[in-house]
Amino acid sequence: MRLILLGPPGAGKGTQAVVLSQQYKIPHISTGDILRKAVTDKTPLGAEAKAYMDKGELVPDGLVLKMVKERLNSGDAKKGFILDGFPRTKAQAQGLDAVLGEEGIDLVLNFDTSEDVSVARLSLRRVCKGCSANYHLKNMPPKKESICDKCGSELYQRRDDTIEVIKNRLKVYEAQTKELIDYYKLKGKLRSVNGDLEVSEANQAIRKILDDSN
Ligand code: AMP
Repeated sequence: MRLILLGPPGAGKGTQAVVLSQQYKIPHISTGDILRKAVTDKTPLGAEAKAYMDKGELVPDGLVLKMVKERLNSGDAKKGFILDGFPRTKAQAQGLDAVLGEEGIDLVLNFDTSEDVSVARLSLRRVCKGCSANYHLKNMPPKKESICDKCGSELYQRRDDTIEVIKNRLKVYEAQTKELIDYYKLKGKLRSVNGDLEVSEANQAIRKILDDSN
């Protein structure tokens, strides 16, 4: 199964991708996670990407496409994958089509999410430094303050989860990513999910879509 999770920042794509990856035994590929690791590891890609990420702007298409091609060529992605946060522009979507060739992707799940919900989720989000697990201080708090339940590492607030940068990320989504809804609708691949639902309800809705599409 080759899936794309589409939707604005704070739609719950990452949270659902983690659960779906376990349920369907296919890798979760988050371009945001790969880029954040490159920044932490101070690689040349990370050095170039950091300024864009801190402002909530998109990293240039060429860099992201190269990175995704490499990731898709690794063995575990051969049996399928869940793309989270990619593609984010029409050029990226076209680049992905070229990489995948004839078979293409199976489905695009569009997380239809209200702005208030996105902002409320992102502003109280905390992320694990070790395993990148996501928490929410109100809706999904860790058992021990600031410590990841899964791996025991410290939690932090992403630099781009401040109100000012969140607002810019939402604008960037509207201006550069939202048109992909029509792009995939025209290909007959798009299915909509209510992104305002809480985690288990959204997961049930997604599983129904995936089961029905088989
Ligand atoms: P995310 O973790 O998906 O919210 O992504 C965090 C940041 O990484 C974004 O605001 C962008 O700066 C960058 N980024 C992630 N994925 C992409 C992409 N597909 N294209 C361009 N920039 C990206």
